[in-house]
Amino acid sequence: MSQKIMAINAGSSSLKFQLFSMPDEQVITKGLIERIGKQDAIFTIEFAGQKQKETLPVSDHQQAVDHLLKVLLDHQIIRSLDEISGVGHRVAHGGEAFRDSALIDDAALYEIEQLSILAPLHNPVNAIGIRAFLKALPHAKAVAVFDTSFHQTMAPDTYLYPLPYRYYTELGIRRYGFHGTSHKYVSQVCAEKMDTPLSELRIISCHLGNGSSICAIQHGRSVNTSMGFTPLAGVMMGTRCGDIDPSIMPFIAQREAKTPDEMNLLINNESGLLGVSGVSNDYRDVEQAAKNGNPQAQLALRMFANRIRDFIGSYIAHMGGLDALIFTGGIGENSRTARAAICHALDYLGISLDAGKNNSNETFIQQSAAPVSIAVINTNEELMIARDVMRV
Ligand code: ADP
Repeated sequence: MSQKIMAINAGSSSLKFQLFSMPDEQVITKGLIERIGKQDAIFTIEFAGQKQKETLPVSDHQQAVDHLLKVLLDHQIIRSLDEISGVGHRVAHGGEAFRDSALIDDAALYEIEQLSILAPLHNPVNAIGIRAFLKALPHAKAVAVFDTSFHQTMAPDTYLYPLPYRYYTELGIRRYGFHGTSHKYVSQVCAEKMDTPLSELRIISCHLGNGSSICAIQHGRSVNTSMGFTPLAGVMMGTRCGDIDPSIMPFIAQREAKTPDEMNLLINNESGLLGVSGVSNDYRDVEQAAKNGNPQAQLALRMFANRIRDFIGSYIAHMGGLDALIFTGGIGENSRTARAAICHALDYLGISLDAGKNNSNETFIQQSAAPVSIAVINTNEELMIARDVMRV
């Protein structure tokens, strides 16, 4: 029997939703509420081939959820609230407590709120979104889908930092990794398209968007990933610096009398593509500037690709080989120049891009005789959330 499952991604002032019919995985409606907390919040919804937008006051997430459900009823997208049998919530941090998506009960919700200490910008608003739906749809099963849980399969020698051990036991400082829902989804799609069981594949997944991360997936399990204790670590991103020598932090803080909060702003919001190029955090803008001859923009693009290549090499070493390299996220799915720069001269590793296939955005873009498949796969975190609701 078909069921209606809602996938929710709640941010501090926004709430994205997608309603699926499952198990056939059809999108019934999707949209978003932005500027929650303001008099002029914006509600956008797409259904049955049309798109509607309205501006209205929305004081908090509860009002946003109530309004969304009212619109679904008013437009007869659903006939009664009982039709929605499950709601899946994207939750940023599951710590070590959640190794998989979880049914939300009082204990789970308490744990998600406790984990706010590790994700102060995200977990509290995720919990607010969960509470709002529990109140509005008390009959529906609520499931939390964590950005971190896919990476809980990493081994201790991979996830520990070489700091005094007590920082792990007392403060939980370790590599957690993020983007797990996306890496898991694209690896599953890639295996399907290759017609090979995931259990037989060594995959490197490159999720390249505003935030970017690389993941080594061996036999369907994450064995290493570039983001760390926070989503700042790893490759260079739109405004995040990724991995740098940690001594730079106290050095700048002392030289420029910056507070920890100011340092956080510097490495999270003012660095990466934006910081190096001086142009923009948006890859397209930096590409355009580079094309126009801006040397800092050209440098930023080379640095961006080089850091990803470093991880690819490192993860091939970690897994002892590679069967498939995946590109996803806004940059990975769309920028043929980024893919070409990343794959440049990696033939000795079996990674041989076919320029023609790459330029025409085909799903598989490796040369026909190449041992490593190179796949461009559109990520779909919402669908993965809906699938997890059904599974849990
Ligand atoms: P988020 O991480 O916020 O979900 P996305 O996955 O949507 O972000 O990725 C956003 C990035 O993708 C931006 O840097 C944007 O410039 C880049 N991007 C989107 N479309 C293209 C394109 N056609 N060519 C190059 N870059 C693109």
